[in-house]
Amino acid sequence: MGLLMNKHNVSCVECEEVPCGLCGSVVHAAIAQGYDYEYQTTTQQFTFVQCAQCGHIFLSPRPKMAYAHIIYPSNYYTLEGRHSAQSSKIISFFKKKIIENRLSFFKDFFTKPVRVLEIGCGDCSLLLSLKHKFPHIACTGVDLAFTETIRAACTHADIALRQGPIEDITLGDSSYDLVILNQLIEHLWHPAQVIAKISRSIAPGGMLSIETVNVCGYDRKFFSKSFWGGYYFPRHMNLFSFESLGALLKRNNFKIVKRYSLLAPIIWTFSFHALVCHTPGKMRTALGKFFADRNPFCLALFAMVDCIALILRCTTSNQKIIARKVLEE
Ligand SMILES: [Zn+2]
Repeated sequence: MGLLMNKHNVSCVECEEVPCGLCGSVVHAAIAQGYDYEYQTTTQQFTFVQCAQCGHIFLSPRPKMAYAHIIYPSNYYTLEGRHSAQSSKIISFFKKKIIENRLSFFKDFFTKPVRVLEIGCGDCSLLLSLKHKFPHIACTGVDLAFTETIRAACTHADIALRQGPIEDITLGDSSYDLVILNQLIEHLWHPAQVIAKISRSIAPGGMLSIETVNVCGYDRKFFSKSFWGGYYFPRHMNLFSFESLGALLKRNNFKIVKRYSLLAPIIWTFSFHALVCHTPGKMRTALGKFFADRNPFCLALFAMVDCIALILRCTTSNQKIIARKVLEE
């Protein structure tokens, strides 16, 4: 289509057709198609399909895991430190507030010497904040890659890091009291296997906290065929609703403690950013600059939109689920 220029001269990533990751069915229908609007790591078109048996929405064909280093380029936002204090003081301030808010449910939990694992820890801002407030807890972070700056900060704060896809990393049985997955499960190649692995790694009575895109977000219907930011082609591979994520957790010995909608200004921003990729010339440059996740005014605008939506009891495109590990029956 020529709309997306390949800045990195990357050849096509090799893709694979996959069955439904939740029920194994191979019968599905296409529901949305699009490109890597955010990073243009490849010029290929990708397709989200919906399982005919269980309704799960997933990317197929999808890039093989061996191409992770291409679809997560070196300027990927967590590696680039885009939301750090050096990059944007306003975004960094709100990010800190969001992190504190994210952890507020676990305030009492952190008074004990608990073991915390964050998978997909990115720039480790959550673990660093946690360790700063509660030095007695043990923290471990897992992600595909870390910069030297992140490694140095974590070594200084006594945070253990493990690098690689979680699918390939071994977790000891009952090794953690809290596992955190923020905006991670939608990126996994094998979410069901990873949740089973995480379940084994959490001690009975321990907790799991997940934040992820909600495929039932009210704003998806405005962009459902291609541009909805929750698709985030080709890095999002599995999209959940409250119900499908809840069912997956229950199958893995978790009891849902709490679930609710979160603000989703980044999803809105990505939706508009994808949309303006299709506007011509100068207009595209100007709008593309405004609808960017590095623009605090754009994020604030959409945060206000979602605040109103939450007052009206809408389901947003961002969800949180907190679950407790129960003993196997
Ligand atoms: Zn299915």
